[in-house]
Amino acid sequence: MELGAVPMRRYGRVPASAKLRCSSHGYGVNMVDVVLIEDDPELSDALSRALNKQGYPTTVATNGLDGVKTVVERAPGVVVLDLGLPDISGFEVLKMLRPVSSVPVIVASARHDDADIIRAFDLGADDYVTKPFSTAHLAARIRAVVRRSSVNVADELRVGELRIDRASHTASLRGEELTLSPKLFQLLAHLAERQGQVVSKKELCTEVWDLPYVETDKTVDVHVSWLRKALGETADSNGYVRTVRGVGLKLVDPR
Ligand code: CA
Repeated sequence: MELGAVPMRRYGRVPASAKLRCSSHGYGVNMVDVVLIEDDPELSDALSRALNKQGYPTTVATNGLDGVKTVVERAPGVVVLDLGLPDISGFEVLKMLRPVSSVPVIVASARHDDADIIRAFDLGADDYVTKPFSTAHLAARIRAVVRRSSVNVADELRVGELRIDRASHTASLRGEELTLSPKLFQLLAHLAERQGQVVSKKELCTEVWDLPYVETDKTVDVHVSWLRKALGETADSNGYVRTVRGVGLKLVDPR
C-alpha cells in the first residue's frame, strides 16, 4: 500500500492495555512499540493500523511537543517522526529529544532535499525515509534500526566505563568490580538497558521490584542513593546516575 494514496478511512487506535513496552526485555526484535509523530490523520491512522498489524503497538502524537512528551513517558522502542508538524518542526523535536533519549528515530518526510536529510542525521536521526513509502518498507526500516540498537539486550551492557554482565550478575567500573546487592544489580541493569533515557520511579517499582507504585514509598530513592554510593557518586556529582526532576532517573555516560 502506498501511503501517499491512503483511502479516506478512520482506523481505531490500539487500546492502552494492548500497548506493550518490551524493547529492552528480550522479547525479540519484532515486539517493540512505536511512537509515531505525524499530524496528517489519514496517514497516521493508516500507518498505526498497519504497524499494529505487523506487531508494533503504535501510539500517535499529532504535534511535536506532544510527541516529545509521549516519547519521554512511554520510552518506546522506535520513533517515526514527520518533519512538517503544526507547532515545532521535526528538527526541533530531535533537538529536544536527543539530550533525554537515545531511542532510534526514523524521520519520515516528504522532503527529499539533501540539506534536510543531512540536518536530520546531524541532529540524531537514525534513518530517513521519504514519502510516499509502503508500510512494508517502513517496517523493514524499523526492524533494521531495532537490530542495530539491540546491542542493549546482549548479556553485556556498557555505559561509558561501566560494564554490566547480566550472565554473571557482575558489574565493574573502570575495571574494578562493584559490590552490589542483587536488587542494586537489577536496578543498575534496568537503567543501563535504557541508557540515556529517563526511567520513571513507577516503572522501576513495577519492573525491578514487581510492586505497585506508591508515591510516598522511598524504596526506589533509597536504592538509588545506595547505587550512587557504590559508584562513588553523590546526587550533585553529575556522574552516571542523573535525576530528572519530576520525571525519574537516567543512566548516562558522564565523560
Ligand atoms: Ca506533516
